[in-house]
Amino acid sequence: WSEETLAVVTGANRGIGFEIARQLAGHGLTVILTSRDTGVGIEAAKVLQEGGFNVDVHQLNILDEESVSEFTKWIKEKYGGVDILVNNAGVNYNIGSGNSMEFAKQVIDTNYYGTKNMVKAMIPLMRPSAAGARIVNVSSRLGKLNGRRSRIEDEALREKLSNLETLSEELIDNMVSTFLQQVEDNTWQSGGWPQKFTDYAVSKLAVNLYSMLMANQLAGRPEGGKIYINCYCPGWVKTAMTGWSGNISAEHAADTGVWLALLPNKEVTGKLFAERRELKL
Ligand code: NDP
Repeated sequence: WSEETLAVVTGANRGIGFEIARQLAGHGLTVILTSRDTGVGIEAAKVLQEGGFNVDVHQLNILDEESVSEFTKWIKEKYGGVDILVNNAGVNYNIGSGNSMEFAKQVIDTNYYGTKNMVKAMIPLMRPSAAGARIVNVSSRLGKLNGRRSRIEDEALREKLSNLETLSEELIDNMVSTFLQQVEDNTWQSGGWPQKFTDYAVSKLAVNLYSMLMANQLAGRPEGGKIYINCYCPGWVKTAMTGWSGNISAEHAADTGVWLALLPNKEVTGKLFAERRELKL
């Protein structure tokens, strides 16, 4: 890795995203710190630039088509391509172990569709290299298919989602739209969804499944043009998202994401990790 290696981090103005940007820059890469608020992004980038890191900054709202397309155009013109994408931007409106469904649509839109927007926008810009380009999605172990606390109860659906022969983008989209329809109809309680952090767990399950699907689709790319995509759960982290009630620091939480972005073992793709270890989806 060198300063020629370009890493894009979404939602990097604070929390885990800022730490991922700082640590990647610490490895000598050039990092594009993105933020949905331009001024906040510039301030955050200044902290890293003043520390001597190679950091550039750009506005990016992963839900705003115009913002994504303007960002894509800027990257292409200024840098020609991207080597690493870290999809960190996300939202959660469940406080403590509460289960607010008030913002379910925004949670699904941001965490799942926003991440997907970025994957689709950046793949065409990913540069060929011997090491392979990397996508890291900051996700959660709450989004496991077979999690003890968070699994979806519909066994037939679970079966289809867990099998690469039957998994498709349409199936994942249908799962989240069925969920959102039930939230709107106020019938989600009997829908067999996870009972805690429900909307957030569904959004991260969709991210984990989409990554597994994309890894499989990208596997056919020729040697030298490979793209590896993995997810990780940062743990319960002291950031604004948890009201600083987590048990680990953002610095610690960034570690597995940075490790995945720079992983020398190229064959790792389509997996979920935590603390640098693979978790079964
Ligand atoms: P923060 O709330 O501190 O940071 C979230 C970041 O995402 C902010 O920079 C926020 O921007 C940005 N963001 C939200 N929506 C958008 C959008 N539409 N476009 C661009 N950026 C957006 O949370 P964390 O640092 O804790 O979370 C980072 C990631 O880690 C998330 O994906 C989260 O789900 C995941 N995670 C966190 C855990 C935790 O315990 N904290 C546990 C498991 C996973 P702005 O400042 O403008 O709001």
